[in-house]
Amino acid sequence: MNESDSELVRSLLKQQGFVFTEDRERADVLLVNTCAIRENAHNKIYAHLSELKAVKKQRPLVVGVLGCMAQNLKTDLADKEPIVDVLAGPDSYRQLPSLLTTALEAQEQGLAQKRFALDLSEYETYEGILPDRDSGVNAWITVMRGCDNFCSFCVVPYTRGRERSRDPESILDEARDAAARGFKQITLLGQNVNSYRYGEWDFARLITAVADVSEIERVRFTSPHPKDFPPALIEAIATHPRVCKHIHLPLQSGSDRILELMGRTYTGAEYLALVDRIRRAIPDIVLTTDIICGFCSESDDDFQATFRLVEQAQLDSAYIFKYSERKNTIAARKYADDIPDQVKGQRVSKLVEIQRAITAERNRRYIGKTLPVLIEGDATRSPTQGMGKTDGNITVVWDKSTGHPGPGAMVTKHIFDASAATLYGE
Ligand code: SF4
Repeated sequence: MNESDSELVRSLLKQQGFVFTEDRERADVLLVNTCAIRENAHNKIYAHLSELKAVKKQRPLVVGVLGCMAQNLKTDLADKEPIVDVLAGPDSYRQLPSLLTTALEAQEQGLAQKRFALDLSEYETYEGILPDRDSGVNAWITVMRGCDNFCSFCVVPYTRGRERSRDPESILDEARDAAARGFKQITLLGQNVNSYRYGEWDFARLITAVADVSEIERVRFTSPHPKDFPPALIEAIATHPRVCKHIHLPLQSGSDRILELMGRTYTGAEYLALVDRIRRAIPDIVLTTDIICGFCSESDDDFQATFRLVEQAQLDSAYIFKYSERKNTIAARKYADDIPDQVKGQRVSKLVEIQRAITAERNRRYIGKTLPVLIEGDATRSPTQGMGKTDGNITVVWDKSTGHPGPGAMVTKHIFDASAATLYGE
């Protein structure tokens, strides 16, 4: 979502005559787009800002902080970080060109007044702004903004505001534009895509229409909420050849008591029933998830319930995190963050261990098969290896000498080995 927002910000600023440079030394303005989802994300930004302090001592520079951390911490952030001149939240980017212009003018006059744009909007979807995309294989397209679910641990409703869906025609225009510019894959983004509504349009209709855009090889989406996964979307994934057979289905906990405290509105049994329903309709589906360990009051029994559910569900992979209390959330106001960090860490390690074993076993089922792979580029570990993704979003690497027409090409790879992270092809 932040990558997508950065593309939007670039577009808005370029329209007003701002010029972007890759060379930090030449920049008059440095913008940091931030995430507030976990403390770790905050810490990265504080480290980055402290690095910028030294730069700002040497020459005039306007520093802007954008995104969810700016929205959630507001003036606390500005007070804590004197080098910050401009703060703009996710619904306020249209104001950014004028904020930066006045900040630059003020700096020339030796004034040091901070400028904020932190209003949340019920309507802003940045309609009519075509994101300024780097060339590449995947184009992110935001289909909705905000969220009305108010899961108790989550800061999104406070930083991105109420849920609103974009006009499907503008989404389709953006998809056609991306296709015409050579993007092979589109990922539709929303905090809860199953709530997408625009007149007669729901998400199943939208993803089908986007997948019908010729020249697009693959369409992905993230993320749905398990509480309202509609049969029509399962049908669209099952039947449309260009809608990828991958669903990221956040579980968060396997304990019904914790799920209730989290405000997730489903039980572990309902989650498993949904997994079962999806697998019966789409046998080759790849299912991934998010899990939080050590949420407020999570007992050993609660954790065991999550562990058992992970064993039972046999999902393809999982992002597993320690609970990190977020300012302003329901959990921060109502529940104590009372699980010691060490216990959170132990629980994460146990789940990671079992999930790695499950993932490795799941990945072994591809050995001996030949799979279509969309090439993304070079493997991170070695420039002599190519890297791409299966339809199910699993990473495949291969020796480039066995065939590597370059990023954006769809090739087939025979899989001869597999680990928990990677399939090896030729
Ligand atoms: S559905 Fe997702 S984005 Fe919305 S409140 Fe819950 S966790 Fe946050």
